[in-house]
Amino acid sequence: MILHINLTFLLAQRTILIIFALLTLSSCTNEQKKSNEVNLYSQRHYTVDEMQYEAFEQETGIKVNVIKANADELIERLKNEGSNSPADLFISVDAGKLQKASKLDLLQKISNDQINSNISDDLKDINGFWVPITYRARILVYSKDRVKAEQLSTYSSLTDDKWKNKILVRSSSNAYNQALLSSIVANKGVESATNWASSLVENFARDPKGNDRDQVKAIAAGQGDIAIVNSYYIGLLLSSEKEEELKAGKSVGVFFPNQAEGESGTHINISGIGLAKNSPNKENALKLIEFLTGESAQSRYVNTSFEYPVNPNVKPSDIVSNWGGFKRDKLDLNKLGIFRKKAIEIFDTSSWK
Ligand code: FE
Repeated sequence: MILHINLTFLLAQRTILIIFALLTLSSCTNEQKKSNEVNLYSQRHYTVDEMQYEAFEQETGIKVNVIKANADELIERLKNEGSNSPADLFISVDAGKLQKASKLDLLQKISNDQINSNISDDLKDINGFWVPITYRARILVYSKDRVKAEQLSTYSSLTDDKWKNKILVRSSSNAYNQALLSSIVANKGVESATNWASSLVENFARDPKGNDRDQVKAIAAGQGDIAIVNSYYIGLLLSSEKEEELKAGKSVGVFFPNQAEGESGTHINISGIGLAKNSPNKENALKLIEFLTGESAQSRYVNTSFEYPVNPNVKPSDIVSNWGGFKRDKLDLNKLGIFRKKAIEIFDTSSWK
């Protein structure tokens, strides 16, 4: 009898142990599965990105899965997926879209000492919802044959009569132009921004078409004299293996507007990362942000995509350094999101297509 009870007891104990072991094993494999990947929703469209993720995978063994789409589509997706979203990180080339995502409660604050110490203070999000990984300036480029740098000064001065039929810029539906106009609304008010947009249209060399690179090519082809473009595209053209692109890059000079005392500084925007509110692989996500803001990844950005580094220990590429330093607009970049709706309304009332 006693033996029987003992036997039953032992069997029960063994069963419990086996169940316990199985549970531990399954939770281990779950954790292991989790800890080996990180999921990005990214708006970025540059070759350097694949290089970064490969280097990260090699260094950490963590697989980077990327879904690419435009920022609004990714935000919509995050919203619809809610707490079931597999996304860990949202990457945008526009602080305005990161501000939008944070306002929709799709992001969580990032507090991490290593990440914090990797980044220049004045580029950080004052609310802590996103981390910049690079920044870019929206600069002026001008025909070296037909314009002298001394003739240029501010974004506002592009509306001067002397530039009639000379200005090239892409469409107003483009996020880079919307961010620029948002910064003008924030710095100078709605009326001033409205006047600027509608007066600039008067000086357009042609109806807006193409991307930033196409504006530079149009200068090289003599279709206009001054273009508003993102800085890194000039680096990309000057390092291009395509004869036509190299020629276009060499035909223009680089000018940083709004540099004089009392002026706001040249408009910049960041490429930045937000941590998804329901990030299932948060630890890996933070590791990736740490990696992307660290010195080796920052060097890869500056030398491959010619953006500016957010890590103060890394210098811009030689091509970009040759343009010299500049005063950047110190506007809180969240305002690029806060004033976006107003900027789009202004574009709609101007005839900037
Ligand atoms: Fe771009």
